[in-house]
Amino acid sequence: MKFNTKTIHAGQKPEETTGAVMPPVFFTSTYAQEAPNQHKGHEYARVTNPTRTALENLLAGLEEAHHACAFASGCAAMDALLKMLRPGDHVIATNDLYGGSYRLFTQVFEPYGIRFSFVDMSSLDGVRNAFTPNTRMLWIETPTNPLLNIVDISALAEEAASHKAVTIVDNTFASPALQQPLLLGADAVIHSTTKYIGGHSDLIGGAVCTSHDDIYENLVFQTKTTGAVPGPMDCYLALRGVKTLALRVQRSCENARTLAEYLTGHPDVGDVRFPGLPTHPGHRIAARQMKDFGGMVSFSLKKDDKQLAERFMSNTRIFTLAESLGGVESLVSHPASMTHASIPKKVREATGLRDSLIRLSVGIEDIDDLKADIKMALSITLA
Ligand SMILES: *Cc1c(COP(=O)(O)O)cnc(C)c1O
Repeated sequence: MKFNTKTIHAGQKPEETTGAVMPPVFFTSTYAQEAPNQHKGHEYARVTNPTRTALENLLAGLEEAHHACAFASGCAAMDALLKMLRPGDHVIATNDLYGGSYRLFTQVFEPYGIRFSFVDMSSLDGVRNAFTPNTRMLWIETPTNPLLNIVDISALAEEAASHKAVTIVDNTFASPALQQPLLLGADAVIHSTTKYIGGHSDLIGGAVCTSHDDIYENLVFQTKTTGAVPGPMDCYLALRGVKTLALRVQRSCENARTLAEYLTGHPDVGDVRFPGLPTHPGHRIAARQMKDFGGMVSFSLKKDDKQLAERFMSNTRIFTLAESLGGVESLVSHPASMTHASIPKKVREATGLRDSLIRLSVGIEDIDDLKADIKMALSITLA
């Protein structure tokens, strides 16, 4: 089955008793048993729920994984995965990381004795030098957030495997429509399904996809034991949303490319970060490991001024000033004070994340309206 077909059919079958084409939202906490421990495969909804299972089967199909495990949020998914580790274990993570991942690593897991190194993963040597005898995990985000740097997944997964470390890829930004890390050698993929997978800014959810039975069993144990499971309605929304993933992502990519080119040519715009631009340092790797370059564009104004950038963000009308990304609607955000505020300013600036950076999540609206909105906001801001 090809990807576009899988987004609709992978792991899906009509519901058994009624033939309903969409799985019902199973609002139940428990399941009747005929005799003690004689049941139809479901005992208690923290452990399994058929709406959740339908979503997990679909997500596994999209990431070419044997298994998927759904969680209440992307952060809950990361938390469960990190609990594979034990005190003394070491993780190498991308330095330009989602702010919430950085907070989880440094403020929850470091106090329990897990150690993290944050490295610039555009340099293979830099990563190679960061391995220690205790390194168990390589944590990759690509394209990175918010600077949209590209990390070579297959080169780094190979390096990690030679050190007997597992490679985890946070695939939230690309989505499986553009990048399938397991096919490039990664051991597990993490998603905030809140973003492109759900696609409509109406749910919070997460998932891990893997073909390793041991990693999957550990995740199932975590969901059953610590209970960060998604409710059936959120699973239904994710399942409904993901069916249009391929179409939505295609349009977002087209719109983002047009806007990136427009911004590059604008006299008041400074640095434009978009992996689809041939001048982007990761362009060639992106062209190899991604089907298209994604719907995210970051840029700064030529006048590197925080207040001016903030004024721009308040002047757009179609681009809504909000956190998050990957929905049908276009959003604009200020990483330094919003999604990445939990990263200290000094650490932010060392990776190149300046206070004047503007991030766009480009939606699927008509490109003429999006372009006009940016043009209008730039001219008001700089008047
Ligand atoms: C949003 C996001 C997360 C966290 O997901 P939630 O669903 O908000 O908990 C993790 N990684 C990336 C790259 C994200 O954008």
